[in-house]
Amino acid sequence: MLEIRNLHARIAEDGTEIIRGLNLTVNKGEVAAIMGPNGSGKSTLSYVLAGREDYEVTEGDILYDGESILELDPAERAAKGIFLAFQYPMEIPGVATMEFLKVAMNAQRKARGEEPLSIPEFIRRVKEASGDLSMDMAMLKRPLNVGFSGGEKKRAEILQMKLLEPRLCVLDETDSGLDIDALKIVSDGVNALRSPDRAFLVITHYQRLLEHIVPDSVHVLYKGQVIKSGDKSLALELEENGYAGVVGEAA
Ligand code: ADP
Ligand code: MG
Ligand code: MG
Repeated sequence: MLEIRNLHARIAEDGTEIIRGLNLTVNKGEVAAIMGPNGSGKSTLSYVLAGREDYEVTEGDILYDGESILELDPAERAAKGIFLAFQYPMEIPGVATMEFLKVAMNAQRKARGEEPLSIPEFIRRVKEASGDLSMDMAMLKRPLNVGFSGGEKKRAEILQMKLLEPRLCVLDETDSGLDIDALKIVSDGVNALRSPDRAFLVITHYQRLLEHIVPDSVHVLYKGQVIKSGDKSLALELEENGYAGVVGEAA
């Protein structure tokens, strides 16, 4: 589903190369965990996958269903079913969360050639999805992410993911700042969405999230490259020995 080949990407503003020859393949139905020390380029990878303009790809390719997405803008990538939950979700003042959801869902339906949802059907879907996440409907009347706690922001991200029914989900440190209860809700939300034709890239600094979302593969990112891949036991090894061992091996 996703094949990243010898990817090099830099910050557009100053030309600093952050992703330096990254290779990664994620198959349909797979949950791949990306782990790595702070500053290794995990968030940058998620921005590059999203197609943010402040990053430039200088070499390599990103194939999604066998086709390069490098020329697509963020909205086109979203319409193709690529969803990103960022480490620091954006605040959208002046737009009620409900309204934001409606616009996002209908934009995606339009891109797929589908009719907009009727209001009752939209509300039914939002109620169902937010109930599963123990989110209060009153919260959805507030502007998206404005004044939301860390846990509320992460739930709002998972809510968007449920409603948009993406095929490739990239979650950047969705666990950071979550207490155990919120972590469980987010993990349950992700696990409920696991399916044979959907893939997940779960980016995390800690092993803790992977106790709840058990990955099929684990990849260690360091200085902009995948330096080691393995199964879920690799995450446990990292938890016990830290990143130093794996980094030493690669060097
Ligand atoms: P991670 O998510 O693994 O902690 P990041 O992708 O956030 O790593 O950052 C990778 C490296 O790139 C870090 O050294 C960071 O300081 C640098 N970096 C990322 N974005 C920018 C930017 N816009 N300007 C300057 N440096 C950046
Ligand atoms: Mg970081
Ligand atoms: Mg990060």
